[in-house]
Amino acid sequence: MSTICHSSSLRGLCTSSSSLAGRSVVKKYLSTTAAKRPIMTTTPLSLTGGSWSTSSTSHFLNPYHQQQQRGIRSVGKTQGRVMILGSGWGGFKLLRDMDKNAYQVVAVSPRNHFLFTPLLASTSVGTLEFRCITEPVRGYTRNVEYHQAWCDSVDFEQSKVDCTLNLSTVPATHITDPTTHTLRQITNNQKNQLSLNYDHLIIAVGSYSNTFNIPGVKEHAFFLKEVSDARKIRSRVLECFERAEMSRSDEERNGLLHFAVVGGGPTGVEFSSELHDFIREDCSRLFPGLMNHVTLAVYDVAPTILANFDKSLSEYCMTKFKRSGIEVRTGTVVERVEDGKLVLKDGKQIPFGCLVWSTGLTENPMTASLENKVLKSKSKRILTDPYLRVLDNEGKVIPNVYAVGDCATIKDHELPQTAQVANQQAIYLRKALNKLAKQPEKSFTDVTAPFSFKNLGSMAYIGNWEAVVDMTKINEKAKESGTLAWVFWRSSYLTMSVSMRNKMIIPMYWLMTWVFGRDVSSFQEYDRRKRLMNAEREG
Ligand code: FAD
Ligand code: MG
Repeated sequence: MSTICHSSSLRGLCTSSSSLAGRSVVKKYLSTTAAKRPIMTTTPLSLTGGSWSTSSTSHFLNPYHQQQQRGIRSVGKTQGRVMILGSGWGGFKLLRDMDKNAYQVVAVSPRNHFLFTPLLASTSVGTLEFRCITEPVRGYTRNVEYHQAWCDSVDFEQSKVDCTLNLSTVPATHITDPTTHTLRQITNNQKNQLSLNYDHLIIAVGSYSNTFNIPGVKEHAFFLKEVSDARKIRSRVLECFERAEMSRSDEERNGLLHFAVVGGGPTGVEFSSELHDFIREDCSRLFPGLMNHVTLAVYDVAPTILANFDKSLSEYCMTKFKRSGIEVRTGTVVERVEDGKLVLKDGKQIPFGCLVWSTGLTENPMTASLENKVLKSKSKRILTDPYLRVLDNEGKVIPNVYAVGDCATIKDHELPQTAQVANQQAIYLRKALNKLAKQPEKSFTDVTAPFSFKNLGSMAYIGNWEAVVDMTKINEKAKESGTLAWVFWRSSYLTMSVSMRNKMIIPMYWLMTWVFGRDVSSFQEYDRRKRLMNAEREG
C-alpha cells in the first residue's frame, strides 16, 4: 500500500482536508484507525541494528516517530507521494515548485544543495566563492520530506526505491580512532539502507563525466561537476605554484606548471579561461618568478573547440586563446594518464601539474541499475515518450514514472544535456502534475501537450572579459562575441541564479575580485588529529 490518501476509500476525505472541518475529520480518523492502519509508507529497512539515533534528546526523533510525523503530514494530499530523485537543475526546481497541498513531496538526493553549474568554473579559481552558487534543499523544504541518500534501484512493480544514506553514522572525530573503527563499519552496513514508497516518481539524477575508459583518468584527473571538484582543483592549482616555488629544477617546474584541460566543450573552455585569468591577474603578482614556466593547454580529439557553437564563434575563441597564450591542441588523442603525465597516442609524454577532464557525459550508476527495466538511448540515457514518461523495456509507458534532465531523453528526439533542457522539463512536469491534481478525473495526456524544447541559445566565457553568445537557433544573425557578449553572459547568469541571497552576493564577489584579486587561501586536508596520533604512536 502506498500513502493513506492514495487508498481509494480516503480520496474523498483527503480532498476536503484543506478546510478546517476536513482536517478535524482526518485527525479523528487517524486517532481511531492509527492502530489498524499502517500510517506511513516510509519504512527504514534495517532497524535490526537498533534505533537510528543514539541521542535521547527529544528533537532527535527515532524512526517510529518520524514515521508517525510524516504520516500525518501526508494526510490531505489528494495525489499521494511524488518522489523526486536528485536536487540538480531538474529535481530542485520541481521540489521547490510542486503543489504541496496536493502532493506530499519527497526528495532523495545525496547532495543537500542545488548547484548553479554555469558558474562552477568561476569558483574553481576563486572568482566567486562556492556558496554563491549553491542553494540548500532544506531552505525550501519545510513541507518537503528530504532524505540525504543515494537511490540505488527502483522497483517499478512495487512503486518502491531502495536508497543508501549519504551520511556518516558516527561523529567525524571517531572515524580515525582505531577503537571505534569497527563500530563504524557495523553501523554503516546496517543502518544506512532505506526503502521508500512512491505514487509518482521523477528521476532527475543527472549524469557522470565520461572517461571513455581511458586508463588512469579516474585516478589522476580532476572532473568539474560538483563544488567538491572545484574545491580540489583550486587547492591543486595553488599547490602546484607552491611546489614549483620550492623546486630546484626547471624541468620539474615546467611540469608542475603545465595545466592541462582535456575536452574543448563549453566546460573545458570556460575552465581554461577562468584559470588563465587567475594566472594572469593573481599568480603573476604572487609568483612573478614562475611566470616563464607556466603553460596552459586544451586538448581535444576534434578539429575544433566549442564544436557545438556557430563556426565563426568557435574560430573566434580559438584565435583568442592562441593570442592570449592558451595552446589549443586539437586532433590530439590521449591514450592514458599516469601520475603527473599525459601519454598521447603518438607516443608523446606530457608532464602536468593539474589535469582537468571534461570530455562529455555518461550514465549515472543509478540509471545503469535500470538496465533491462527501461529503454535506453545509444548514449545510455533513459528513454521517455514525448510526455516525459519513462518507457519500459518493451517500449510501454510505466505509469506515474517520469525522467528529466541529463539522465533522460525523448525517444527518437535526442535532447542536449544542458541546464536549459532540465529546467524547461521541470517546469513542464510541474505544471502538468499540478494541473492533474486539480482535475484528477483526467489523464496526464489530457491535461498537457507533449513537451517541446525551446532552444534559447548557448553562451561561454572565453576569458579576459569576453564571451561568445550563440542564438543562431532562434535567429540566424543572433550571435555575438567579445565584451558585449560578456556583459550579456554575466547579466543572464545573474538573473538566472536562484535566490535573492545569491543574486546579491554574486555581484559583490565579482566586484571584490576585481578590486582586491582572488582569495588564494586553500583549505586542503590538514589533519592535526592524525599528526597528534602519529606522534603519540612514535613517541
Ligand atoms: P544535475 O543538475 O547534475 O543534478 C543531478 C542531481 O542528482 C544531483 O543533485 C545529484 O546529487 C543527484 N544524484 C546523483 N545520483 C543520485 C542517486 N543515485 N540518487 C539520487 N540522487 C542522485 N548547462 C547549460 O544549459 N548552460 C551552462 O552554462 C552550463 N554550464 C555547465 C557548467 C559545468 C561546469 C557543468 C558541469 C555543467 C554545465 N551545464 C550547463 C550542464 C548542466 O549543468 C546540466 O545539463 C544540468 O545540471 C542537468 O540537470 P539534471 O537535473 O539532469 O542533473
Ligand atoms: Mg536534477
